[in-house]
Amino acid sequence: MHIKIIYIAVYLIAILSLIFIIRSLYITPGKYARSLRMAMTFAILAIIGNIFIALSNNEQTAVLSYCIYFASIDWIIFYLFGFVLSYTEHENIKQKLKPPVAVIMLCDTVSIFLNFAFGHHFYIYRNETVPGTVFFQTGFRTAYYFHLAVDYVLILAALCFIIVRIIRSYSLYRIKYILILSVLLLVVGLNLIYMTLSLLLDASVIFYAVAGGLICFSIKTFVPRNLMTSSIAHAVDDMTEGLIIFDISDNCIYANSFAIKNFDINVPTYNYDCEPVASAMKEISAGRSEADYIKAVSEAGNSIIKYYKVKYNRLIDRHERPIGCYFLIEDTTESVFYMNEIQEARVAADKANIAKSTFLANMSHEIRTPLNSILGMNELILRLADDSIVREYSQNISEAGEVLLGLINDVLDFSKIEAGKTEIVPAEYNPYKLLRDCYYFFDQAVQKKDLYLNIKCDEELPSKLYGDSALISRMLTNIVSNAVKYTMTGGITMEMTFDETGNDTIDLIIRVSDTGIGIKAEDIDHLFDSFKRVDEQRNASIQGTGLGLAITKELAVLMNGDILVTSVPGEGSTFTMILPQKILSRTPVGPVTKPRSSEIKPHKESFTAPDASVLIVDDVRVNLLVAAGLLKPTKMNIDIAMSGDEAIEKCSHTKYDLILLDHRMPVKDGIETFNIISAQGMNTDTPVIMLTANAISGMEEEYLKLGFKGYLTKPIRIADLESALLNLLPADKVIR
Ligand code: ADP
Repeated sequence: MHIKIIYIAVYLIAILSLIFIIRSLYITPGKYARSLRMAMTFAILAIIGNIFIALSNNEQTAVLSYCIYFASIDWIIFYLFGFVLSYTEHENIKQKLKPPVAVIMLCDTVSIFLNFAFGHHFYIYRNETVPGTVFFQTGFRTAYYFHLAVDYVLILAALCFIIVRIIRSYSLYRIKYILILSVLLLVVGLNLIYMTLSLLLDASVIFYAVAGGLICFSIKTFVPRNLMTSSIAHAVDDMTEGLIIFDISDNCIYANSFAIKNFDINVPTYNYDCEPVASAMKEISAGRSEADYIKAVSEAGNSIIKYYKVKYNRLIDRHERPIGCYFLIEDTTESVFYMNEIQEARVAADKANIAKSTFLANMSHEIRTPLNSILGMNELILRLADDSIVREYSQNISEAGEVLLGLINDVLDFSKIEAGKTEIVPAEYNPYKLLRDCYYFFDQAVQKKDLYLNIKCDEELPSKLYGDSALISRMLTNIVSNAVKYTMTGGITMEMTFDETGNDTIDLIIRVSDTGIGIKAEDIDHLFDSFKRVDEQRNASIQGTGLGLAITKELAVLMNGDILVTSVPGEGSTFTMILPQKILSRTPVGPVTKPRSSEIKPHKESFTAPDASVLIVDDVRVNLLVAAGLLKPTKMNIDIAMSGDEAIEKCSHTKYDLILLDHRMPVKDGIETFNIISAQGMNTDTPVIMLTANAISGMEEEYLKLGFKGYLTKPIRIADLESALLNLLPADKVIR
């Protein structure tokens, strides 16, 4: 009885193992998984048959149990055969053989169960050799040998297919087939032993579980894992980076081809004192995780420098305990060269940019100098001429000169923005004042064209904002000057309002609408492109460079704002600037009335200073005449010098109240002259204004840093000149 219990226990363990294997086969892809699952299901049935044999207490139940067992063997072999055909990639043959073999197996199964009636397969006899325990065993008849023959033919066929595969395959694939072959031979061998020795119970069924496990291992683990390991090994070896691995005891255990080739590594003897790891270790001890390594190598007889980056990585186990480390070595030679090239290109670009700035400064200087003479002389003619025709001609010269000056300023402004030199300099300002100043600026131009100019300002607009009012004013001026240019009848409305965006921030909204010629819808997209004038044919008669709006847009973006346009051709356009600003005081600007229009009248000097003496220094005679002529109405004592040396000589014995000094002069330039005059003593405290045609960005700051008290650009604007003098002349000598 004890033997039976042991048998049954082992059978049950085998069944459990098979269930476990079948479950795991469900998640195994592959056409053979189903055949294998079925074979194992019948293996469970075969084992159950054996359990019943062991538990049988009469011949009838023993016969039934044996029938189940023998029939199950048929189907195990049927599905195993199918599995082998699939596994050895004989799918076609499998599909062809499946129906006839299934019919044969079915017949054999029916024949086995008919043994009940005819006893043609086997007979049962009692074995009582173990005292106290009855075993029902079988003696075989003719039909059983037919059953055996069918099974063994199939098994032999399966073995043949595997053997052919073993011969045809290689490497790990050969091993995978050998594994399957061994498993099949094991089960067959055990079955043969059971039969020839007429053992009490068939122990070989237990090995179905072992066989299933082995097959499963072969399919699921052996091939994929080996394939993966060898692929990774190849990939690592083919890497264009070096890999060196050390174990926890600092022994080098691996170096890939790249590392071996480039650093002559001999794995067992390589250690932390060898390069490039030695260099990396120094950096690592300094707390870094990577190091640069430079090596001179000779290639085709030439010595070249190679650059590497060595990265250190710790290897840790699941519990984060150190188990070793590895170094990755990247060849950075190409990127270092690229970086150098980029650096060189950047230096070249910077040089080109400096050359461009110098060119612009020179051009601006060269154009401004004669323009100064033209506009200055023209201003003098305007003042002196009584003849209305002469005055009209002179007025035309003045307007054309202003356009030319605007053009030069635009080009300079644009290049300044492009060079990233325009900075936002925020300060407190009153937004309404900005609008009003713009109104005054355009008032006369609008009157001349018989247009109206309205201003509207939201009463609730905070009166103190923080932003760059000079840049906003520049943008507004650009837009309004366009509106004036492109409007023939009607007029222009400037409107200021705001949107709250936070506790102390608003979007300042400035809207300029005109009743001008308007812009076609297809042109609106290109409006802000630099040097782009839209609808050129129609605008040919209107002066412009196509830069104004590009500059305005760039400035808006610089302020994190935007500018929008809507327009109806023939009816007018509306430009809306949206500019984020900070609030300094929420006090509203309150109701505003339209400023009074100023009359167009010739310039009237803003002060006189008969006791003040001024020295004007310039190497161009006309410039001296212009400056002296413009200042004549102020009744100041004006002295002139045509060179640095002459100015120095005059300053050595005369004390002046103010000096206007040109920059670019032959022999001694303005700065040299200024330094000498300042050092002489007599005019050390005299304020000096730099009067120059050099209007390039950043120049004003440069001159002020050098000690100049003011900076004026040519062509001279009389209003600017007078206000600079008013600020710097001794107050007691000025009569307003
Ligand atoms: P421009 O110096 O030519 O005026 P801008 O950049 O200031 O250059 O303007 C680009 C083009 O946009 C102009 O040439 C003009 O065709 C069009 N434009 C700008 N403002 C207006 C406007 N208020 N009404 C009609 N067209 C305008």
